[in-house]
Order: sequence, then C-alpha cells, then structure tokens
Amino acid sequence: MSRKILVLPGDGIGPEITAEAVKILNACRDAGLDIVLEEGLVGGAGFDAFDEPLPAETLDMAKAADAILLGAVGGPKWDKLEDIGKRPEKGLLGLRKNLNLFGNLRPALLYPQLAEASSLKPEVVSGLDIMIVRELTGGIYFGQPRGIEERDGQRVGFNTYVYSEAEIERIGRVAFEMAQKRNGRLCSVDKANVLEVTMLWREVMERLSADYPDVELSHMYVDNAAMQLVRAPKQFDVIVTGNMFGDILSDAAAMLTGSIGMLPSASLNENGQGMYEPCHGSAPDIAGQGLANPLATILSVAMMLRYTLNETALAERIERAVGNVLDQGLRTADIAYAGTRKVTTAEMGDAVLEAFRAQR
Ligand code: NAD
Repeated sequence: MSRKILVLPGDGIGPEITAEAVKILNACRDAGLDIVLEEGLVGGAGFDAFDEPLPAETLDMAKAADAILLGAVGGPKWDKLEDIGKRPEKGLLGLRKNLNLFGNLRPALLYPQLAEASSLKPEVVSGLDIMIVRELTGGIYFGQPRGIEERDGQRVGFNTYVYSEAEIERIGRVAFEMAQKRNGRLCSVDKANVLEVTMLWREVMERLSADYPDVELSHMYVDNAAMQLVRAPKQFDVIVTGNMFGDILSDAAAMLTGSIGMLPSASLNENGQGMYEPCHGSAPDIAGQGLANPLATILSVAMMLRYTLNETALAERIERAVGNVLDQGLRTADIAYAGTRKVTTAEMGDAVLEAFRAQR
C-alpha cells in the first residue's frame, strides 16, 4: 500500500526549502518508493486562509499521513495577533500534541567539509555525530499547576516539573534503541542531585538498561553536559533528556556544527508516525530571495526514510548526495566561504537531485 506523506510548507522560507525537498521525494518515487504526496496549510499560511494556524482539514490530513514534512512557521506579519491561540507557532504545537509526537530526535552532525563553519576548533568538531533524544510532550513545559498569582502581597510565578514512570520509560526505550542502531553508547542527562523528578528519571533509565545489555549507559548532570558539549563534544553518541534540558542542549549542539541551515529533526509517536522538519525557523529576513539553505529540509527527508518509512538505503543515498555537493564546493550563502561556489536555494536542490540520481 502507498504510504502517505503530507507536505506542510508553512511560512517565510518554508515554501522554498520544502520545494527542494519535494524534488528529492519525487526522485525517490522514481527510484521505486511507493508514496503519495499531499500538501496542506499550517502556521501563518493556515491563518490567512482559514483563520486558524492549524486548520481542521490540515489536522485530518496529518492524522491520516504516515509522515509529515514541515518547512517552518511564523513571521512578523503574524507577530502582532492579539489572540495568541491564532499565532503560527500554535500550528506546530497543535500538531505535536494531537499526534502525540513525544520523541524528538535532533542529530548534530558536522560534515567534515564544513568544519571551518563552526565557532569551535576544527579538530574539536570535525566528524561530530551526536544524536540528542529529547522528550517533547511532557516535563516542565506542560506540567500543572502553573501560573502567576498573588501570594502575600507579591506576584509569584510557578511551574511544575513532572514526569511519570511511563513517560520516562517511553522516551528511554526510543533512546536505547537509537543507541543500538548507532555506536551503543547512551548518556542520560539529568539533575538528579537536586530534582526528585530526575532522580526518578535516572532510576528508570537504570532499570531499562537491563533490557539493552549491548548499550553502555552513563549519566551526566545537565550543567556538566553543557560544559562537555563545548569542551569535547565527540565523546557523545546518543544523549537522552527531558523536554527543557533537551531544548537547551540541542540548540547548543546545533551551533557546534556552525550552520543552522544544515540540521534536520524528527518527532515521533508510538506508532512510528513522524513529523520531519529543519531545526531552523522561517527566516523572514531572507525569504523569497533564493538565499535559504535547503539541506536541513532535504536531510529531514533522509530521516523520514530511515525512521518512519524504513528505507535506510534511500536515506543513505540522500546523505551521500549531500556530501557529494559539499565536496564539489557548492555552498548557499550561510555556509559559503572563500574558495567555495555560492549557489541559490534551487541550484543547491538541483545539485543534490543530480548527485542522488547519479548513484543509480
Ligand atoms: P530562524 O531560524 O528563522 O533564523 C535565524 C537566523 O538564521 C536568520 O538570520 C536566518 O536568516 C538564518 N537562517 C535560518 N534558516 C536558514 C536557512 N535554511 N538558510 C540560511 N539561513 C537560515 O529564527 P528566528 O529569526 O528566531 O525566527 C524567525 C521566525 O521563525 C519567527 O517567527 C519564529 O517564531 C519562527 N520559528 C519557527 C520555527 C519552526 O517553524 N520550527 C522554529 C524557530 C523559529
């Protein structure tokens, strides 16, 4: 049976970068992959057409899809909307919540050809390949009670950091399985010296490790993990952590690679259904100018093939094609430096397509 892929270009550079990724999806279909592509509106585009950042029609299509490819949402046009429920970001959060996409995979992978782009010394980051597994639908971002209220004559803000054993186990299993498919090392990041919720987190990870004897489990406090990520990032294989720590550490890890335009991500639920998107936003400052780097979105397609469609060979073929165009010296403006050839969004997409087809 054909597998359904919903493409949600979104706002800003979203339509430009997803157009390049769709070229690759079509080439995969030409290579024998049985997929059907649909397109929908989300974010500001959804608001403009239906007065909703997540129109009902889009949500229905998303629920029925095997995988979703999302560009990015947001932009100054919608920043002033008074009803925050109508803001573009709500489209994204609504998709995560409705599809229960609890497992966020954020690779930080530095192509050796781009080692110069990092703010760290090339020898510290060259060949970097980390996978951060972040819990996405729980923890302090969602915990109740929360709010700002008056207590003893002054305002007090409060949030609740909460995880159930089941939530920890669910994300833990994703991370252990990921480590099994990679180099067999898993580092669980917590603050178990201070926070009870992460004492439980550590206990559950320890218990799970008995089911994965081939994975070497270690633990690290989050403050040390932040330090180690910029000191010696290549010591990590897979990192698993909660929603807030993962939010912060994955952005730090992303910047080790020098360019936000290179990094894909996946968010998965228990059925293996996934939403795939670049880590960056809608970059309104460069939208419509052919300046956007489409590689993060193209690499998101590779993740989709690997983690939802189980087509590892095609995923590797896309990743090789990306490596190949970088070897050729082609660069969009964000990763260009002296001696390389600056290309537009579409030229980069076409070059990857050509390199993909050449591997036939
Ligand atoms: P951003 O990631 O859009 O842009 C940050 C900087 O990186 C900009 O200078 C931009 O030009 C550059 N950049 C980003 N992607 C690039 C690419 N593919 N190629 C070349 N350069 C690229 O972050 P921001 O400026 O903080 O946010 C802009 C809008 O995007 C806001 O409305 C924000 O809410 C939204 N946003 C959306 C998502 C998402 O859809 N997942 C994530 C983050 C931000």
